Amino acid sequence: MSGIVGYIGKRNAQPILLDCLDQLDYRGYDSAGIAISTGTSIEKRRAVGRVKDLRTHILREPIPAGTIGIGHTRWATHGTPSEQNSHPLSGCDHRYLVVHNGIIENYTALKRGLKKSGHTFRTDTDTEVIPHLLEEHDTGDFESTVRAVLPLLKGSFALAIMSQQHPQTIVAISQDNPLVIGFGKGETFLASDIPALLPYTREIYPIKNGEIAILTPGKVQLTSVDGEAIEPKRMRVEWDKQDVQFQDYEHYMLKEIFEQTKAAEETLAGRLTSSGIHLPELEAAWSKERVQQLKKIDIVASGTSYHAGMIGRKVLEQLLQLPVHVSYSSEFRDDHPPLDEDSLIVVLSQSGETADTLSALREGKRLKCPTIAITNTVGSTISRKADSTIYTKAGPELAVASTKAYTSQLTAIMLLALWLKEQREGLEEEITLSLLQSLARLPGDIDSTLIMTKDAIDQFAQVTFDQEHLFLIGRGLDYVLALEGALKLQEVAYIHADAYAAGEMKHGTMALITPGVPVIALATQHHVLDKVISNIREVKARDAFVIGITTTGDELLVEEVDQVLYIPETHPYLMPILAVIPLQLLAYYSGIVRDHDVDRPRNLAKSLTVE
Ligand code: GLU
Repeated sequence: MSGIVGYIGKRNAQPILLDCLDQLDYRGYDSAGIAISTGTSIEKRRAVGRVKDLRTHILREPIPAGTIGIGHTRWATHGTPSEQNSHPLSGCDHRYLVVHNGIIENYTALKRGLKKSGHTFRTDTDTEVIPHLLEEHDTGDFESTVRAVLPLLKGSFALAIMSQQHPQTIVAISQDNPLVIGFGKGETFLASDIPALLPYTREIYPIKNGEIAILTPGKVQLTSVDGEAIEPKRMRVEWDKQDVQFQDYEHYMLKEIFEQTKAAEETLAGRLTSSGIHLPELEAAWSKERVQQLKKIDIVASGTSYHAGMIGRKVLEQLLQLPVHVSYSSEFRDDHPPLDEDSLIVVLSQSGETADTLSALREGKRLKCPTIAITNTVGSTISRKADSTIYTKAGPELAVASTKAYTSQLTAIMLLALWLKEQREGLEEEITLSLLQSLARLPGDIDSTLIMTKDAIDQFAQVTFDQEHLFLIGRGLDYVLALEGALKLQEVAYIHADAYAAGEMKHGTMALITPGVPVIALATQHHVLDKVISNIREVKARDAFVIGITTTGDELLVEEVDQVLYIPETHPYLMPILAVIPLQLLAYYSGIVRDHDVDRPRNLAKSLTVE
């Protein structure tokens, strides 16, 4: 969703705010805006489009220099992406300036009431009620005015607010939407996400629900909802500045695809040991007996994380011989299977802020289920709410289409499955031992897959650039992989890509197969290879152009398809981690050849903090 930034220090705020907004524009790129205080008054500039459009606007119409300011990059939920609807937003008399991430769910009723009291609205946003409410409840004191308004707002939101009457202060609030304070030397930053702060500081504090942060020059004052002072306990993030720079790559997406080797390596480091699985984050919260009492597992996630969850379901079910259910986060809260204290809930979210997943987690906790989060973001809301968290160590993921976070989630799920297995019955079975050995080789196998597939996929994307439809088929884990491949192609290449369980084509979809239509046949699960080959023959008989993905050494597939792509062979559970790589690359190159902004696909945003 949108990105919020803030700065108070001694430096010129404008370049810092714009730079931080650049880092955050994966959260929304409909419009952008900043407000800067000269110390006595505040001015704002806003522009439709991306941060570069805001820069152009500021060049045409410079904003007075100042050392205090806030900024926003918007993913519109209410009202079109117009300059009028862009943040910072003000009320009737421009006294307050507000940047907002999230949705004010009761804005219609609030707006009605405010209109009755004489307020005039200029935008179609839900956000605009906030500056009007601040005017309506103005006590003259910034903090107490904000305190009077907060209980009136329903929904999830992060806010940074400035006031013309208090031009040396920023008030920041985070209610179920992330907002992080960054501590520099004599300067303070605000950002929706940690990566935006990395060029400036690694000392951070994520503001929690109910807390109000008052930022003034050289000072951060944090208070609870009842006005009690709180000491912001700083955390140090391990991510590096280089992680948020392009380095040798043209796009974040390609950089992140190539970072998967390192992401897997880091996610496994210290956890996969010669004596078994070492996950102190779980050991602290779980006794062996408690793990043995578990009767079922529910995995909850959205989008690409949901596909990781689907793979996780098959692996956990087979390894633990427990029923495992996987749900979309957006469905789970209102419609979930029976749950009790012996049902483990595992939630997956790259950002740790996905609103739907957070709601699902809350529902699980309400029903007293034990909960484990798998997330990439230290200190995120989901990691704070779950009983325990396994962090993926992918580093910041900035392209909207998730790649390295997905393969790291799968790696973490394997660790979780093995750890649970170890607690329940030990790791002596052959299938478990071979999985352990293959996991140790995973980073090397990822590297080989990248080298083996990159050029061939680039060429395939060139020859299929005029195709509007593409089908992916597979069985078992390859079917889930097909779903993920289709999603990537939709997100980045805007191709109508659809995934089918290979055996299901004949039950309807075969009618869509016309001569020359590309079909990607995934054949990495050898126990179903014969059947997949029969399904390939069925689409070939209708003159589809079939590209097969299989493992080195397989001689069967090459006879059946128009083109074959080989990847290294590993344990069947880990094949989806390797086989997704050519599909990610296909989405990337298909997006490039169609001239799309692959890092910022149309209508999408990363880190979805609205339900
Ligand atoms: N709901 C607000 C709007 O549409 C904020 C959206 C956002 O999070 O970017 O302006």
